[in-house]
Amino acid sequence: MPGVLYIVATPIGNLGDMTYRAVETLRTASRIACEDTRQTRKLLDHFGIGGHPVSYHEHNEASRTEEILGWLESGLSVAIVSDAGTPLISDPGFRVVRSAVERGFAVVPIPGVSAVVTALCASGLPTDEFRFCGFFPRKQGERRRWLETLAGEEMTMAFYEAPHRIVETLRDIEETLGDPPVVAARELTKLHEEFLRGKASEVRAALEKRDAVKGEFTVLVGKGERKVETDEPAPVAVKRLEASGLSRMDAIKAVAKERGLPKREVYRMVEEG
Ligand code: SAM
Repeated sequence: MPGVLYIVATPIGNLGDMTYRAVETLRTASRIACEDTRQTRKLLDHFGIGGHPVSYHEHNEASRTEEILGWLESGLSVAIVSDAGTPLISDPGFRVVRSAVERGFAVVPIPGVSAVVTALCASGLPTDEFRFCGFFPRKQGERRRWLETLAGEEMTMAFYEAPHRIVETLRDIEETLGDPPVVAARELTKLHEEFLRGKASEVRAALEKRDAVKGEFTVLVGKGERKVETDEPAPVAVKRLEASGLSRMDAIKAVAKERGLPKREVYRMVEEG
C-alpha cells in the first residue's frame, strides 16, 4: 500500500498550541521532513518524539520532493512540518503536495495554527472575506507599486512583514492606500503578544516611539477609506502600472478599482489618450 503524506501544523510560539493529532502523527510517521532540522528536533524533544527529521526547504525542494515521492511509493508515511505554523503558508511544501496529488497519493492535513488566521480572528477587522498576500516585497519601489494594485481591494488584507521593515511598510501603506485602518499583530501566542490598532499612520507613530521594534509581525489592513487620493490622470496611472510589469488589462482593472470607476470607463480614457 502506498504511504500517506501528512501536512502537520505546529505552534507559532506557544507550545501549548500543538494538537494531539500533530503529536500522534509525528510519533507514528516513518519520515519527518522539515525546514530546519535543529528547530524541529527541539519541538520533537519537547513532546518526547524520536526519529531523525530530514531537511526540506526552498534550496532542496526539487530533489527532496522526488525522494519523498519514492518513500510514499514504497509505503512509508511522511510528515511535513515547517519551523512554525502551517506548512505551505509562506513556507515550503507546495511542490511536494502538488506532486503527491498529481501522482494520486493521499495527502492528509493535520490542521493547527497559522499566524494569519490567529491575527485575523482577534483583530476586530471584518472576517467575512479576506485576502492573504504573504510577505511584502522587500524593495520599497516594488512594494509601493504592488500596494497600488491592491488599492481597490474591498476585503481585509493580511501580510507578513519583518520587524526591521515594518515602520517603512506602514508608511507605504499610509501613502499608497489613503491611511486605512491597520492592525499589527506582534508576537502572537507568545509572552509579549500585542495588537496595535489604529490608522496606518497611528500604528507607525506608536512603533516609531519605541527604542527598538522587535518580534514577529502579521499586518492586517481593513477596507476603510482605501481609495487613492490623486490628481494623476487615469491613463497616466495605467501607463505607470504597465511600466512596472502589469498587463494593460490588469493595469486598467487596478486603476478602475482604486478610483471606484467602471473598467470600460478607464479603458475608454486610455483609448482616447
Ligand atoms: N507558516 C507560517 C504560518 O502558518 O503562519 C508562516 C511562516 S512565515 C515564514 C513567518 C512569518 O509569519 C513571520 O515573519 C511573521 O510575519 C508571521 N508570524 C509567524 N509567527 C508569528 C507570530 N507569533 N506573531 C506574529 N506573526 C507571526
